[in-house]
Amino acid sequence: RREPLGPGRLEQALCQASDVDAQMLQLVGLLELSEDERRVRHLLVTLFQEVFTEFFPGCAIMPFGSSVNGFDTRGCDLDLLLDLEPTKSLQASTQDAPGAGSGSGAEDSILSDIDLAAMPAPEVLELVATVLRRCVPGVRRVRAVPTARRPVVKFCHKQSGLAGDISIDNRLALLNTRFLQLCTEADERVRPLVYAVRLWAKQQGNPSGGGPLLNNYALTLLVLFFLQTPHGPTVPDRAVVAGWDCSFPRDVASLEPSTNTESSLLSEFFHVFGDFDFPGQVISLREGQALPLPPPTAPETSDGLKLGPLNLQDPFELNHNVAANVNEKTASRFGRCCRDAAKYCRSLQYRHKSSKGRAWGLTRLFQPGAVEPGPGGRGPWFWEVCTAIAFILRDVLKCSCAAGKPPRAPSKESKLPVDSAPSEELPTESDVEEPSAAEPLSVGSKRHLPEATNGTTLPAEKRPRTNSPEEAATWSCAVWHRVWTGRRRVRRQLQHGDGPEGPDGDSLELEQKVSEAIVQQEGTEQPLQPLLRFEASARAAGTRREMRVLLRLVPSPVPPSPLFRDFFHFLQSFLPATVRRRLGQEPAGCP
Ligand code: ATP
Ligand code: MG
Repeated sequence: RREPLGPGRLEQALCQASDVDAQMLQLVGLLELSEDERRVRHLLVTLFQEVFTEFFPGCAIMPFGSSVNGFDTRGCDLDLLLDLEPTKSLQASTQDAPGAGSGSGAEDSILSDIDLAAMPAPEVLELVATVLRRCVPGVRRVRAVPTARRPVVKFCHKQSGLAGDISIDNRLALLNTRFLQLCTEADERVRPLVYAVRLWAKQQGNPSGGGPLLNNYALTLLVLFFLQTPHGPTVPDRAVVAGWDCSFPRDVASLEPSTNTESSLLSEFFHVFGDFDFPGQVISLREGQALPLPPPTAPETSDGLKLGPLNLQDPFELNHNVAANVNEKTASRFGRCCRDAAKYCRSLQYRHKSSKGRAWGLTRLFQPGAVEPGPGGRGPWFWEVCTAIAFILRDVLKCSCAAGKPPRAPSKESKLPVDSAPSEELPTESDVEEPSAAEPLSVGSKRHLPEATNGTTLPAEKRPRTNSPEEAATWSCAVWHRVWTGRRRVRRQLQHGDGPEGPDGDSLELEQKVSEAIVQQEGTEQPLQPLLRFEASARAAGTRREMRVLLRLVPSPVPPSPLFRDFFHFLQSFLPATVRRRLGQEPAGCP
């Protein structure tokens, strides 16, 4: 049985690998589903099949997407296709010849007074939702989404904790799933690369929504496009689905090995897409090349393809732009993130294992905001602190925490390195003597003098003179749960609980469990709105003798609510202590 992937476990494991290639292989091993997890999914599919067969005789339920395409990760959703075509045929034959279908089951089921073939798609979806809701044990939160491009019924399964979607009419997805699967079988470098790119994109989350840069299917196609050889696929097996030519070779043996033998594919991926003209061409996996846009006389279409700031043609459904929902801002952000990542991949921190146990290689690449260089130089120490801040906010305190915009060059008027809110609404450096919601928290320091530090903000007069704010990092954060209330009590319960499951000596793990317990106490439903939103910006400051990182929080909206003030006061002691612990500067103990 595999250990659960607790906070920091992934980073710890990756840091111990010998080189980046080893990290990439390890990444797959750490993230992929275990045999037990696969078995649970299989059992669930079998259960669904049994229940649906009772209501829709002859139907088939088939998994697609990440459960079966080779890019599975722990807890990934369960995409299912419910194929009702056999049921419709069965029903038609029963209707045509009364009595002939006797024993088939169709006439005894709920279909006895429903004509499935004539039923509008939204009603079929509702019917499926009703069956799920009423008849599949353990299924919760069932919701039909008829307006999606591919309508689905969403559900959660209580015992396994899995979330999933059931599509009714999406046979193309089965084919593209098989296609992705084939690619993983054809070239063993595909999986590590896709896992690394997916996780990197997830951690670069969109500042406004916290979602990934591009969805996983689109990212996977980009990686495959990048890896495509000039020769393209060999003799394909013919298949036409929904009018689209979905032919591709099914036999791995018939594929030529890739001629791309570079060891540093990930860095090359970022380099290629960092300089890519996304709006000016169409990425075609079918052709294995980027195609020029159609002439300006047909601005909207290229064989029906909806053009936009990022044009990624589906390999089968050729008039579908997989990235059609990507706006200009996200497309250019994707390019910028790729450039930043490419730059980082050229650095020593990427290529060489740290002998001092610091984040290196993939570990740093996966930290939100950690490789975004922005103006001015930043020492590795600064990034370690930023990485630790993001870790505490996101993994320990369960906040959404997405890397923000690169900092604007400071202007003389505002004196502030913060770029996340109108400067006139923010207190300036001189305002911080009175406790203020936007007061910087001193969260990490690099002292060259053996002085003690108590981990809290120094009084203004003792605060070191700040140098020019040449180093900064920003995050957009949302707080979803009151993780700051009742921590002491919950911590005590967890520490003195008599079960063998109690957290061990890793006190950050304990802190994470405390947050989880508080979240659980609040109820199982994910709140629709966060309790608080704020922008956080970190900058390096101090003297040559003592460098420190100051973290400024700006609530949204300003002025801060009483709730924000509570949260801020909690962070004042919690964050410095836990960041130091994360950095290995302080022994474990309750903050
Ligand atoms: P994960 O669930 O871990 O994010 P996944 O590979 O299952 O990864 P999903 O986004 O769940 O990715 O997509 C599942 C399937 O849905 C894909 O294999 C593809 O068939 C289809 N799909 C998803 N997004 C698109 C899209 N933008 N255009 C076309 N098909 C898509
Ligand atoms: Mg999925």
